[in-house]
Amino acid sequence: MTTSLELARAAFRDVTLYSVEAAPCDVDLSDNTNLWGAPPAASEALRDLANSGVSRYPSAYASALKEALAEYARTDASRVVTGCGSDDILDSAIRAFAEPGDRIAFCGPTFAMIPIFARLNGVETGTAPMTSAWDIDPERLVATGARIIYVCSPNNPTGTTASRGALERLIAKAPGVVILDEAYAEFADDDRSDLAAASDRVLVVRTMSKAFGLAGLRVGYAVGAPALAAAVEKSRGPYKVSMAAERAAVAALTHDRAWVAEHVARARESRDALAASLRRLGLAPLPSQANFVLVPVRGAVGIAGRLREVGIAVRAFEALPSIGDALRITAGPAAMMEKLVAALEGIL
Ligand code: PMP
Repeated sequence: MTTSLELARAAFRDVTLYSVEAAPCDVDLSDNTNLWGAPPAASEALRDLANSGVSRYPSAYASALKEALAEYARTDASRVVTGCGSDDILDSAIRAFAEPGDRIAFCGPTFAMIPIFARLNGVETGTAPMTSAWDIDPERLVATGARIIYVCSPNNPTGTTASRGALERLIAKAPGVVILDEAYAEFADDDRSDLAAASDRVLVVRTMSKAFGLAGLRVGYAVGAPALAAAVEKSRGPYKVSMAAERAAVAALTHDRAWVAEHVARARESRDALAASLRRLGLAPLPSQANFVLVPVRGAVGIAGRLREVGIAVRAFEALPSIGDALRITAGPAAMMEKLVAALEGIL
């Protein structure tokens, strides 16, 4: 029998996690966080923390945060589960809804952590290509025989979205749970989170790491039928959101919605301007609904290395299915975008 330790070693072999492993750089456009910073009420809550009893444990299942998230997501707190980032939610959901030897399916390319969390939990992966319009292919996903189907929309790394029609077909035909990862939903023209209210087999996963600017605090959550939320909570365990994270997240949800909306608007504007600049350089970025742009370019790894030499970090991908080599660039303040575009122009 394979032990948990062996599974973990195999899952994380050859994995470099995010940009935090690398040396610091001036302009970090590699991790799709909020490059304008953190919201003011959240920062103030962190400053006040010193006087607020951190010698005690936080609430076991983050009840105040659940209430605030339920209000934000226009749902009931019994339908919300929180975690240490949405990574934690995704990992726990795989454990909750699949047994070792079962399968999770997705259309590739998609969020790179999913196959890692699958391996970590002894779960196999099944993949289907995206359609030529960057949509999911419900029939091929269902044909994989997977117990869980994962859809990321807007999708990391493409930035493209799954159509409502395809998602509805998928939910109607899927035999088990559909996980809809909406980490970037705030940046899209519309979201599909209402699908969680329409089916008791849909879990919508969200995060406060992107639009809410709180990546360092690790606050993720999911919305779904109470039985789904409870199953994830059970496989996740208590005390996964720290007191600091809960206080700051509640403050942001209560007082900083206008700040978030304003910075989402700036990110969308910056994303579209970045795509236009890349097109002017003769490149063909994919249509993005997230706070980043994926641009196919041959030799992306080498280009990212040269950008790094001038203090700019982007995420490079090699030979993505139906895309090839590509750079994923986070949209941020104009000064950062200007540096990136000028450096890229020099390299190309
Ligand atoms: N889902 C997607 C699609 C992501 O891109 C990320 C982070 N890059 C996550 C989930 C995890 O985010 P976090 O753990 O910070 O909530």
